[in-house]
Amino acid sequence: MTFGDIDPPARLLMGPGPVNAHPRVLRAMSAGLLGQFDPEFTAYMNETMALYRQVFQTENRWTFLIDGTARAAIEAALVSLLEPGDPLLVANIGRFGGLLEEIGERCGAQVTSVTAEWGQVLSLEAIEAAIVRTRPKVFASVHGDTSTTMAQPLEGLGEVCRRHDVLSYVDATATLGGMDVAVDRWGADVVTGGLQKCLGGPPGSAPITLSDRAAAHIAARRHVERGLGSDAGNGRRIASNYFDLAMLMDYWSERRLNHHTEATSLLYAARECARIVLEEGLGARFARHAACGAAVAAGLSAIGLELYGDEGHRMANVTAAYIPKSLDGDTARAAMRRDFGIEIGTSFGPLHGKVWRIGAMGYNATRPAVLSTLAALEVVLRLQGWPARPGVEAALAVFEERGVG
Ligand SMILES: *Cc1c(COP(=O)(O)O)cnc(C)c1O
Repeated sequence: MTFGDIDPPARLLMGPGPVNAHPRVLRAMSAGLLGQFDPEFTAYMNETMALYRQVFQTENRWTFLIDGTARAAIEAALVSLLEPGDPLLVANIGRFGGLLEEIGERCGAQVTSVTAEWGQVLSLEAIEAAIVRTRPKVFASVHGDTSTTMAQPLEGLGEVCRRHDVLSYVDATATLGGMDVAVDRWGADVVTGGLQKCLGGPPGSAPITLSDRAAAHIAARRHVERGLGSDAGNGRRIASNYFDLAMLMDYWSERRLNHHTEATSLLYAARECARIVLEEGLGARFARHAACGAAVAAGLSAIGLELYGDEGHRMANVTAAYIPKSLDGDTARAAMRRDFGIEIGTSFGPLHGKVWRIGAMGYNATRPAVLSTLAALEVVLRLQGWPARPGVEAALAVFEERGVG
């Protein structure tokens, strides 16, 4: 039994991720493999570091890739920053805040949370008050929590954290390359991403950046792997080998101390994603995502759907709307896929079955992708007996008004 060739149907992926990868990224992935210490390959590694410094808007030396999907980088950050017993404060505004709590617990940290109701965000004052109350070693938050489609404001975060001698971590998986992720301006210590959202690549590689003070903190826990050398750090050994950022820094440094085998084809993909982002320009890219998000919101409203969440803090790249009470959300999603080849998202936890989530990210943050999705949704809703009004004109007006997308 050998089954068939991989020949997936054409789909327009307009959910909360993954999205369709840019064809240039898929082409880059088909390039020939090199050994991980081949000078041609280590040059690509260095170029990838330089490219992601620009994508993250940082001067951080330690800017590289974690092999694995976005949560691999989240785990690497938390397991390398936290020792058992360390206090961790999590800003929980949705499902991915819950993930930070869970990973923190698995690291043995003492986890407390400052929580916003789903659909809302936290003020910096509330975060600072919680820092003062709980005296954490690490503060962790999510920039764009796709579960609720809310974007947590992070301006001024670093100043607050430094004032209280706290290290900060931000999960920017959903926003990197689509919204303004300004690592140095925020003053965030560790920030991570993933390829399959606004960067327009496949899942499987997760960019990470570390401030010098975070890197110094982690380097103090450095224990070189048995068989590679004898230098042991003073601090407590990091609980994971694969996600040990101290060893990963050695691997990505000029020393190239052996660790895992770099995921060659995914490095090609990540490098190409960053090149595409920077060729377009960060400002133009953010404007394109913002225009698409506004067009999706305008189109959904014109159709007659009610948008979800705090209007002032919606992510640019994923928009949620309530499913009308008389409809089954999954039946409509199945019709979108079957009849139009378009995937949209459902949601988790308290929002399960209550909202649809439409993403316009990376290669799919375009006028045709947005308009096709809205047109299809309008028809699907009507065929299911719900009185949908036209949505496309309102979305088109947003694109015309903004002159982008
Ligand atoms: C999509 C997403 C992730 C995804 O993690 P994976 O391991 O790539 O599935 C993590 N965090 C946020 C905020 C996300 O939106």
